[in-house]
Amino acid sequence: MSQAVKLKNYINGEWVESKTTKYEDVYNPATKEVIAQVPISTKEDIDYAIEVAAKAFETWQKVAVPRRARILFNYQQLLTKHKEELANLITMENGKSLTEARGEVQRGIENVEFAAGAPSLMMGDSLASIATDVEATNYRYPIGVVGGIAPFNFPMMVPCWMFPMAIALGNTFILKPSERTPLLTEKLVELFTEAGLPKGVFNIVHGAHDVVNGILDHPEVRAVSFVGSKPVGEYVFKRGSENLKRVQSLTGAKNHTIVLNDADLDDTITNIISSAFGSAGERCMACSVVTVEEGIADEFLAKLKERTGNIKMGNGLDDGILLGPVIREENKKRTIGYIEKGIEEGAKVVCDGRECALEEGFFIGPTIFEDVTTDMVIWKDEIFAPVLSVMRVKNLKEAIEVANKSEFANGACIFTTNAISIRYFREHIHAGMLGVNLGVPAPMAFFPFSGWKSSFFGTLHANGKDSVDFYTRKKVVTARYPSPKFE
Ligand code: NAD
Repeated sequence: MSQAVKLKNYINGEWVESKTTKYEDVYNPATKEVIAQVPISTKEDIDYAIEVAAKAFETWQKVAVPRRARILFNYQQLLTKHKEELANLITMENGKSLTEARGEVQRGIENVEFAAGAPSLMMGDSLASIATDVEATNYRYPIGVVGGIAPFNFPMMVPCWMFPMAIALGNTFILKPSERTPLLTEKLVELFTEAGLPKGVFNIVHGAHDVVNGILDHPEVRAVSFVGSKPVGEYVFKRGSENLKRVQSLTGAKNHTIVLNDADLDDTITNIISSAFGSAGERCMACSVVTVEEGIADEFLAKLKERTGNIKMGNGLDDGILLGPVIREENKKRTIGYIEKGIEEGAKVVCDGRECALEEGFFIGPTIFEDVTTDMVIWKDEIFAPVLSVMRVKNLKEAIEVANKSEFANGACIFTTNAISIRYFREHIHAGMLGVNLGVPAPMAFFPFSGWKSSFFGTLHANGKDSVDFYTRKKVVTARYPSPKFE
């Protein structure tokens, strides 16, 4: 076991040591250096945090909404001031390029900006006359303690989908960051405290299954926001719902991109490369499959291969890097396993990421398969790595049929200059987030992050007005004011 710094939990406004004896190494995936050790916290740890958050809720829910919003404004300023530091931390623990990390920080800040609109977002509605002398008013209230469980691939943006809005609306929050990227959250909570957040409102408990189960089973936790893989998300949704909590579970993906004969090829390829290989393909909105119309397929593949050959792979802190490492050695091995499986299943390798894998970190090069079919494992599974499948299709109808066969339905993109094709795509594709002539159609904070099918379990999505509904409950007051009888 290394001597790297041991992380602590943040509970009731202070850093506290976990009761655990179990710690896991946290790596810089670009160098394999151990940069910290994260506690695999116990049930006792999470129970204590929930108790603290429940107590803090008693007062935090009563703080006037504009006052809570003012703290969010302060927080936005502090996050903006520390943007570069936050981006560096993301690159160090996750491996994505500094450019991508800066983009992630910006997206996180946008969530804080949206949450600062709590006074308008939380407004109820009323009808002055629903019967003679009777009116009705709908008020929104926070729901209590909320638990958030986050994945490794967006250490800042994904937690920011959850806690700023939940807290702005008057809830208290416990975040369990990914045990593979736990460092950035320290800074997130420090800055929120500096912005004026009272103690106990935002707590962090590091760990794995025991902390997750502790959140899912505790009666004081009223709602759970989960983002991560499909099997875990399904489990979280079922267990949390069985325990009568609200659960929103955003899960895996296998995003299809359709390229039609009339697309601007150079621009299309620029976008597809960035989507498929940026962040090492570890994005729930990454392009995993391209279905390209036959008329343009040969030219598309030739150019895609050539441009992929120019991708710069390396430490994300260096200039011009597009492709960083995957998160861990086991993810690299898993990716190599998928490449071997694809070959065994009869797909043709256009670019083989194994050939240029770097040994100084968990690097695997960009991989492209062609002649992929829908019965292959490489088409079905979410690989979550820089591996792209290309399929030739007769037309748009066939491309949509292929995409709609996937069990996942997070995002889908189309590259074309024809408005009629775009409308047909919009009406027939089964996916919640669509892109037209762009590669990563991740909605901004004020729209819902709206995956379908196995990419989402729940009713109300993260972000947008959905998040306001998810983190609030309502009281409708029906009141009769008999007309005064004047002389
Ligand atoms: P993961 O499912 O392994 O982990 C997510 C969280 O669940 C972590 O905090 C982890 O500690 C916890 N966890 C893992 N196994 C558990 C178990 N058996 N019981 C209880 N808790 C458990 O996901 P990951 O590898 O960190 O992230 C990648 C996944 O997240 C991909 O599938 C990606 O598509 C998905 N993702 C989805 C979205 C979206 O919006 N749909 C966004 C980002 C990432």
